[in-house]
Amino acid sequence: MNKEQLQHIRADFPILTEKIYNKDLIYFDNAATTQKPRCVVERIENGYYHLNANIHRGVHYLSQKATEAHEAARTSVAEFLHAAKREEIIFTRGTTEAINLVATSFGEAFCKTGDEIILSVMEHHSNIVPWQMLCERKGMKLRVIPMNERGELDMEAYKSLLNEHTKIVSVAHVSNVLGTINPVKEIIQIAHSHTIPVLVDGAQAVPHIPVNVVELDADFYVFSGHKIYGPTGIGVLYGKSNWLNAIPPYQGGGEMIANVTFEKTTYNELPFKFEAGTPDYISSTALAEALRYVQEIGLDKIAEHEHELLTYCTEKLMEIKDMRIIGTAKEKSSVISFLVGNIHPYDMGILLDKLGIAVRTGHHCAQPLIDSLGIPGTVRASFAFYNTKEEIDVFIDALKRVVKMLS
Ligand code: PLP
Repeated sequence: MNKEQLQHIRADFPILTEKIYNKDLIYFDNAATTQKPRCVVERIENGYYHLNANIHRGVHYLSQKATEAHEAARTSVAEFLHAAKREEIIFTRGTTEAINLVATSFGEAFCKTGDEIILSVMEHHSNIVPWQMLCERKGMKLRVIPMNERGELDMEAYKSLLNEHTKIVSVAHVSNVLGTINPVKEIIQIAHSHTIPVLVDGAQAVPHIPVNVVELDADFYVFSGHKIYGPTGIGVLYGKSNWLNAIPPYQGGGEMIANVTFEKTTYNELPFKFEAGTPDYISSTALAEALRYVQEIGLDKIAEHEHELLTYCTEKLMEIKDMRIIGTAKEKSSVISFLVGNIHPYDMGILLDKLGIAVRTGHHCAQPLIDSLGIPGTVRASFAFYNTKEEIDVFIDALKRVVKMLS
């Protein structure tokens, strides 16, 4: 991306011109949430001002228009993920709710005492706790794929964990701490050779790399709108229709029913079976706008620019004495976790903040991973396509000052 294109893109994000403690904001916390382009915010505003009526059940004009917009958003998401059918897209509140949905409904239909679930050591708590809760309910076990010192999954260990008790494999496409891009296609192929389904947590992948769920052959793929420049409170569960038809509804209520009597309720067809209650039809349309926006820039172009930022920042960080980068996988997305000497990550984060730089510190909701590394946490800088090398220069200078103060 050249300078002019970048300036053009940055102008779409009003928040990037904010001052923090009188300093220019440098926002390197994109793995936690991304900033929103003007078109997404305008879509939300336009939705509430001009298109607001409850969907699906209304015969009146506004309700029909809102329904059309919500269902068009579903089609946009299906196209974005290259799903075979639009009814395989379920709107949820986010990645977390999507995983809870699968853990609960799949668990209800297919799991029993003694069964096992395979996760990896680098999972976010949202891809651990719902499965752990299922294990507690049913008397099952979690099995964990280890990784090497670079933060790459040990595929031989993975193969050895699969057995006749394994019911599902659930892994992150991209680690939110290490930035590792996991070989999910291979993970899926191996699981499928044992007829075991796979859920892929794509929260950190979809903003950075093109995803094709059919090519991956993923059984379930989940992501959050707010991490891909869309609104908070909306996310996506993609599921192959044979799986979604085979598992029971997650929540009961309006929309998800076909017929209700006090004696028996029959359920609606896909995707509505999994969308109980009034959906967030304003956020779904704003998410579709965010997807349109990133596709207009081009995911290949985004990946290329972010990779340049990753390489540039990694090289600059390595100039700092006692720098330790946590996660040096060959295939990495634009997330850098690090520690410097014995300085506590929290102290670095607090001082960087005072210089206008937003990074995240701590365990990043991946406590088992941090514990396995024997560290107190990390400082994490994560980049989006609107970040620049000039911002990295300011960050590195600031970090050098901070390290000097704390050493
Ligand atoms: N999975 C990964 C890999 C994440 O990075 C995150 C958020 O940081 C989540 C799941 C949870 O996403 P959400 O809080 O939007 O549900």
